[in-house]
Amino acid sequence: MKLTTFLALLSQIAATQACLTEKERQGGHIIDLKTRGINRRQANANNGSIPVAIGDRFNNGKAAPRGIGSQINATFDSVLNLNEIKSAVLGLAKQFSTNVEYFEMPYKTYENRTMYGAKIGNGKNKGKGNKGYRVLLESGIHSRERGGPDHLVYFISDLLWASKEGKGLTYGGVSYTPQEVRTALDQGITIIPVVNPDGLAFDQATDACWRKNRNPASSKPGDEASIGIDLNRNFAPVWDYNKYFAPGIDPASDNSSTELFHGVAPLSEPETKNVDWTLDQFPDLGWFLDLHSPATLVLYGWCHDSNQAKDKTQNWRNKAYDGKRGVVPDDPAHMYKEFLDQKDWDALTLAAARVAGGMTDSTGRFYRALQAPHLYPSSGCSADHGLVRAALDPKKKKVYGLGVEFGEWNEAAECQFYPTPEMHRMNMIENGAAFMELLLTAARLG
Ligand SMILES: [Zn+2]
Repeated sequence: MKLTTFLALLSQIAATQACLTEKERQGGHIIDLKTRGINRRQANANNGSIPVAIGDRFNNGKAAPRGIGSQINATFDSVLNLNEIKSAVLGLAKQFSTNVEYFEMPYKTYENRTMYGAKIGNGKNKGKGNKGYRVLLESGIHSRERGGPDHLVYFISDLLWASKEGKGLTYGGVSYTPQEVRTALDQGITIIPVVNPDGLAFDQATDACWRKNRNPASSKPGDEASIGIDLNRNFAPVWDYNKYFAPGIDPASDNSSTELFHGVAPLSEPETKNVDWTLDQFPDLGWFLDLHSPATLVLYGWCHDSNQAKDKTQNWRNKAYDGKRGVVPDDPAHMYKEFLDQKDWDALTLAAARVAGGMTDSTGRFYRALQAPHLYPSSGCSADHGLVRAALDPKKKKVYGLGVEFGEWNEAAECQFYPTPEMHRMNMIENGAAFMELLLTAARLG
């Protein structure tokens, strides 16, 4: 690689913050709602970003969606509203009843919503309860990252339609054969289309560029920004960052007025509890993908420090290294890299590379596979949760996690996480390829 190309790539990474704007990173993540037009929703408030749909195009679960992989000229002039996402899943369960089963989760959100998921495919294990579901796909954990639930639901629609019709799928420049469609569906897929329904309802109603959930338990009087917890800092891995990380590394925050507020304990929130519960219900899950935007990156763990496969003593449970983690690259006072079995590392690297390659080939926009802390270190991340669970309880299967950061900033919009219709369409093509590549990798690696 030419040095100039290398430097250009470096600067691209520095400018890309994935789920956080540059200003949020620079400003200690303090939320400034005054700049966001909160409760001022009006026509054109977002300068050409795709609107949120009004109504329900699936007629309360009576009709099923159809994605862009099975009908190349499909158009999408709005993103699915919260009710419509559920209606779409119910529509799929009705139309493809032999391959889709809807289920609900036990922990209600602060605003008393019931979270739900669906079991997809896995026909050969039908009637055996939750056995044989190997891949968990989720979206909507950061509510302002618009389009994620659409991409997941429309992809599943494509897969079901193509399998039933004996057809292949095409996402831009990449095509999958009917046999690959069957292989993908046979993996057995569990989906959670909206991990943060309260946040999504609020964001869609206000255009407030809202990331967290809506739990006010740690909020401060008169400070609306202090409502909510960042659910992608609330999972178990190295949640207590003050203990695990080097001083000065801010992978999360104790300040509820920030975008990175991690809550009062790991899995303190009903939303993260429900994801953990889902992992308990489906004992054969081995792969996980969490959809985020934007950054054109495919991230894999560990989330908190660089990986190494030689020294088992350098692991997150070893207290001797508390206060040293999260410095990337290491300095003499913080020599620490997290241990990962070579086999697990290889599997994660291959999956991330295949997903990034498929996304790149679909539209020609370059996606990079990257170990997460090389962007920035984080604590309590969803991608590592399935590895930590297995480390704490050997009866549980390891779950390899990826975080896909689809798309690019909408520079013209007040909330840069809201794509234009053109961006939304491109993102949908890329994410279709991403899901297919992960499913086919799962089939290949077991
Ligand atoms: Zn995100």
